[in-house]
Amino acid sequence: MKIAVIGTGYVGLVTGTCLAETGNDVICVDIVEEKVNKMKNGELPIYEPGLDVLFDRNIEQNRLKFTTNLAEAIEDAQIIFLALPTPPGGDGRADLSYVLGAAKDIASLVKDYKVVVTKSTVPVGTADKVKAVFKENTLVEVDVVSNPEFLREGVAVDDFMKPDRVVVGTRSENAKKLMEELYAPYVRSGNPIIFMDERSSELTKYAANSFLATKITFMNEVANLCELVGADVDMVRKGVGSDDRIGKRFLFPGIGYGGSCFPKDVQALALSSEEYNYDFRILKAVMDVNQSQKLKIVEKMMNYYKGDVKGKKFALWGLAFKPETDDIREAPALYIIDELIKAGAEIVAYDPEGMENVRKLKGDALAFADNQYQALEGADALIIATEWQVFRNPDFKQMEEKLKAKVVFDGRNLYDLHRMIDLGFYYNSIGRAEVN
Ligand code: NAD
Repeated sequence: MKIAVIGTGYVGLVTGTCLAETGNDVICVDIVEEKVNKMKNGELPIYEPGLDVLFDRNIEQNRLKFTTNLAEAIEDAQIIFLALPTPPGGDGRADLSYVLGAAKDIASLVKDYKVVVTKSTVPVGTADKVKAVFKENTLVEVDVVSNPEFLREGVAVDDFMKPDRVVVGTRSENAKKLMEELYAPYVRSGNPIIFMDERSSELTKYAANSFLATKITFMNEVANLCELVGADVDMVRKGVGSDDRIGKRFLFPGIGYGGSCFPKDVQALALSSEEYNYDFRILKAVMDVNQSQKLKIVEKMMNYYKGDVKGKKFALWGLAFKPETDDIREAPALYIIDELIKAGAEIVAYDPEGMENVRKLKGDALAFADNQYQALEGADALIIATEWQVFRNPDFKQMEEKLKAKVVFDGRNLYDLHRMIDLGFYYNSIGRAEVN
C-alpha cells in the first residue's frame, strides 16, 4: 500500500518505518527541514532501540522516504496517518491545532478518495472535527479514522510490530477493509484488531493511559504509606501483584510518572470530562499525588540536610523520563533539578541518552558528566532518577572513592537494602526503610 505519515516524532517515525518493513511504500513528512534532511541522509533524529536497523533497511530498499512537501507525500497515498503533537494548550486541554491545521492543508490538496487516520492521542469528538474540516474545504470524499497508538518509547519497534491489540475507530466499511489489510501482518499471532466507532476508539486511548497512570500513582501512595508504617513496598508489591486480577506489571513505585503522554493525557481526560459536566474525581487525585511524588526525593533530601542544601554538590544519574529513551518531556529529573538549583545546590548529571536534550533546555544551569562515575567526583550525594540498566549493578567501590559522602537517594529502588547496609551507604529509597 502507499502510505503517508505526517509528523516524524516518536510515533510518526516508528509508524512509518514499521509500515515500510512489511512492504508498504511510505513517505514521511515533517515541517522541520533540518530533521527531514537528517533522515534523508540516513540519520535517525531520535534514540529508539532497534529502530536503526529497520530504518536503514527500508531506506535502502526505497520503501521509506522523507520530505517537507505535503502535496508530494499525499498525492498517491491511499492512507494518510496524522502523527502530530497534541500538547496541552494554555488551558490544559489537548491543543488540536496541529491535527486540525494539517487536516486543512491536506483538504486543500486532495484529488481523490483518501483514508485519513488520526494516530495522535486526541479527545473524544476529534474525528468529527477532522471530518468537518474536510467537509468545509474539499468536495473529495475522505474517510476519517481513529487509530490510537499504544507504543511505549524504549520498546516502540516491538510494540508496533507485535501489538497487544490494534484499535480502529471507523464506521466506514471501506476504511475498515483497508485498515484490516494494512495491520494484518502485525497481528498474525492472533492478537485482535478491535473495530469500534470513532468516539469509543478515542476514549480507549485516554482511558488506557489514565488507568496506567492511576495504577502507578496508587502504588506510589502505598509506598509512601509503607515508609510511615514500617512496611517494605517491594514485598507489598510482590504480594499484591501475584493476584492475576492485579498483575505484576506497572506496580513499581518511584518518583512519579512523566513523559510526553501520561501527564498530558490524564489532564486532558479530566478536562474534557468537564465539558460533559462530568467530574472525573479520581484523575484529579492522580494528578495531585503525582505532582508531589515528583519531588519526593527533594523532600527526603531536605529532611536529611535539615532544609539546607546550599553549596552542596549532587550527582544525578538519569534524566530521561524512563530508560531506553532520550525523551525528557515532563521527566521527574527536571523537577528535581529545578528545586535543588533553586535551593542553592549544584548538579552534575549523567544520562546515557538524555543529556543533549537537557542541555538544550537548561543550558549551563547544571553540569554534565562523560560517564556515570565522573558525575560522582566530589559530590555530597548521588540521586537516581531513571532506572537505566547500567545503574543497576554499578562499581560500588568506585562510587565510594569518588563520592565525598556515601549517600544515595534512589527514586527508582535499584539496590537491595541489605547490600547497601553491608556496603555502608546511607541509602534512602521509595517505600522502604532508610538504611545506615
Ligand atoms: P513528537 O513531538 O515527538 O513528534 C511530532 C512531530 O510532528 C515533530 O517531528 C514535529 O516537527 C512534527 N510536526 C508538527 N507539525 C507538523 C506539520 N504541520 N506537518 C508535519 N509535521 C509536523 O510527538 P510524538 O511523541 O510522536 O507524539 C505524537 C502524538 O502521538 C501525540 O498525540 C502523542 O500523544 C501520541 N502518542 C505518543 C506516544 C509516545 O510514546 N511518544 C505514544 C502513543 C501516542
